[in-house]
Amino acid sequence: MASDPLSAPLSTEPYKGVRDFYPADWAKMQYVFDTVRTLLRRNGYEEYQASPLERAELYESKTSEEIVNGQTYTFTDRGDRRVTLRPEMTPSLARMVANKRHELVFPVRWFSIGNRFRYERPQRGRLREFYQVDVDIVGIAEGTAEGEAIIRAHQILSAFGAKNEDFEIRVNSRALMNAACSALGLSEDEQDAYIALVDHKEKMDADAFEAEREAFRRNGADPLELVEANELPAIAEERAKLDALIAALAERGMGNAVFSPTLMRGFLYYTGTVFEVFDTNPENSRALFGGGRYDGLVSLFGGDPIPAVGFAFGDVTLLDFLETHGLLPAHLTGAPDLFIGIPDVSDAEGVHAAYAYADALRAEGVNVLMNLSRKHLGDQVKEAVRRTIAYFLAYGTQEAQSGSITLKILNESREETLSTDAVAAFITGAK
Ligand code: AMP
Repeated sequence: MASDPLSAPLSTEPYKGVRDFYPADWAKMQYVFDTVRTLLRRNGYEEYQASPLERAELYESKTSEEIVNGQTYTFTDRGDRRVTLRPEMTPSLARMVANKRHELVFPVRWFSIGNRFRYERPQRGRLREFYQVDVDIVGIAEGTAEGEAIIRAHQILSAFGAKNEDFEIRVNSRALMNAACSALGLSEDEQDAYIALVDHKEKMDADAFEAEREAFRRNGADPLELVEANELPAIAEERAKLDALIAALAERGMGNAVFSPTLMRGFLYYTGTVFEVFDTNPENSRALFGGGRYDGLVSLFGGDPIPAVGFAFGDVTLLDFLETHGLLPAHLTGAPDLFIGIPDVSDAEGVHAAYAYADALRAEGVNVLMNLSRKHLGDQVKEAVRRTIAYFLAYGTQEAQSGSITLKILNESREETLSTDAVAAFITGAK
């Protein structure tokens, strides 16, 4: 007899290419987000948020053909509207800025942390749902904001303890490439096609790249060769701007910024400087951060153009980076700090005192889990260990009377005798 499909157990696996975050996994994410949030807020940036549901048309005019044609999650809702789960944040940011362009105080310095969705082939560093931090400066024309954005990217990695030799900041300019393409008389469509080809260079076979490149050769030269020759005034002017940016970064301790003529970035909306941050470890050779200047995006919503620079980085690649370089703290478990055991659950007065003591510790910033079971004290300790809780103490009438506590430091298998009012400082000081 065929089995009844309705009674087959449901899969416990998540959908392909997305992740469940159990508390220990989410604790790592929160550590990363908290570190970034603190740093950006300290530098004057404000956090914003938007829904992951957007009108599909938002991405269709000017983002990335690769993303729009092959990677968006797009569906028609019950009211016949075409909806896309955001694959990136920049178009939403541009929409929000355009919507309040008369009220906002420019330059806007904003950041956002949230999930993005791309129908990609899942592989190391690439998933179908990932988290990104987007950082943008809107309202400053070409000049200082490029440096500001790159400095923030560098500071974020430094905040995790990364050193200059751990990563490289590759800098290029769309304006430079466009100047080279225009000098050869390439049409706008041909320029976009050439930029897309160069963007794919690293993913292509070298011979295939050379063959495709031939289609863009005019009078014996192709745009990349013109950039490298650095002879035409329009090209020299753009290269000089990049050289000045790289020199200014080096002067501020960012000697790991380099000119990278083949760096293009996949999005169509970039108009000036583009940059990426690369891990120097060959095992993790992926772009960690990507960004650039996009001066034409806000005006897609009408009104005068508002210049903008921004960058984004993903949680997957950043966590790989932090793990390969040993930059994640060891005990990010998401577990509470302290387990309070009850020596005698039938002693109502002792239990009552333990609850009051737990509340006092919580008020001082300790995350406390109270024993809820009728287990023996030894088994309560075992439970705390299984929960990866760092500290354990037993609290009953005796502790309430003596004012003295034996605090077990579980991951070091040792004990400290402390007065009841010294426990919170001991634990929070070690956090
Ligand atoms: P992009 O928005 O494509 O410029 O990518 C910016 C950063 O987001 C990359 O450097 C990655 O860190 C991350 N990222 C982009 N796509 C994915 C993905 N499918 N899975 C995980 N991370 C991604």
